[in-house]
Amino acid sequence: MAGALLFSSRLDDPVAWSAALRAAMPELDIRVSPDLGNPADIETALVWRAPPGELAALPNLRLITNLGAGVDPILADPTVPPHIPVARLGDAVMAQMMAQFVTMCVLRHYRDLARYERQQRARRWHYELPRPSYDCRVGIMGIGLLGGAAARMLSAIGFPVAGWGRSPRTIEGVETYHGAAGLAPFLARSEILVCLLPLTRETRHIVGRDVLYGLPRGAKLVNCGRGGTVDEAALIAALDDAQISEATVDVFETEPLPADHKFWGMEQVLVLPHIASIAVPEIAARDVVENIRRLRAGEKLLNIVDRERGY
Ligand code: NDP
Repeated sequence: MAGALLFSSRLDDPVAWSAALRAAMPELDIRVSPDLGNPADIETALVWRAPPGELAALPNLRLITNLGAGVDPILADPTVPPHIPVARLGDAVMAQMMAQFVTMCVLRHYRDLARYERQQRARRWHYELPRPSYDCRVGIMGIGLLGGAAARMLSAIGFPVAGWGRSPRTIEGVETYHGAAGLAPFLARSEILVCLLPLTRETRHIVGRDVLYGLPRGAKLVNCGRGGTVDEAALIAALDDAQISEATVDVFETEPLPADHKFWGMEQVLVLPHIASIAVPEIAARDVVENIRRLRAGEKLLNIVDRERGY
């Protein structure tokens, strides 16, 4: 009987997710890929990079939920049936975890910790006068759930924060810009640029030479969104040229980052293995289950992705 949920991820823990889903909906029939049982039983799928063709083989599938915020892998898979709604995960805990992580990265750049790490390696004692945070302008590209949370947290601890998005948004205490016309003035005022954009047709390589050189000289970059939004060759050139003085990079065009990638050996780049934030099963499972309930009741679903827009 249709009504089962397919869990398909090679990254997330099926035991933790099954326990969290059952805590929220004890009667839920959960199938863990590749043990689908009868494909006709499956009504919803909770997936991270499901094997190509797996979802297309489910005749009664009614909802696909992405095990995370960024749906670019699902939208890039031509075998995923185009008529089935796609939901993303995104809750207050995921947003808080991202905001904390971005805040840590920004503080590290603002207080020049990389310099002191280098000094320690050289056994060098050298003191630079710190400056107040009201003097350090942070700009956030992408001010949705995660970027918005990061903007609020950074603003609350004393940074002048601006955000940039596709459409106008208001966030208390944050200066907001949008669209092509808003980009240049947003960049010109941002000495630490945080990238929290989804990867879409429009945002691929949006952080290229023009954006990097639109920042004040010596600016710092933090990318916790998607690797493909940054043109890595342009970033390497801007780092070599000292236009960008330092970068913290959590997401890459190719993950895992290939062993011969130049970033690994660059002193001014902190390479992180895509760890900024996650969907915590016991929290996120509540939204997954709520959407199953809404689906069955014919109610409006949560966190549905606009496939045309790409996020
Ligand atoms: P949202 O959909 O809530 O927000 C996306 C933001 O990007 C919005 O402000 C949107 O503008 C803006 N945006 C989208 N397209 C454009 C464009 N063409 N031009 C300008 N702005 C644009 O996403 P989230 O905040 O929840 O997540 C952002 C991304 O973070 C995810 O897509 C995912 O890839 C990444 N991520 C990374 C993680 C990690 O561990 N490193 C963990 C989780 C997510 P508007 O306000 O107009 O809609």
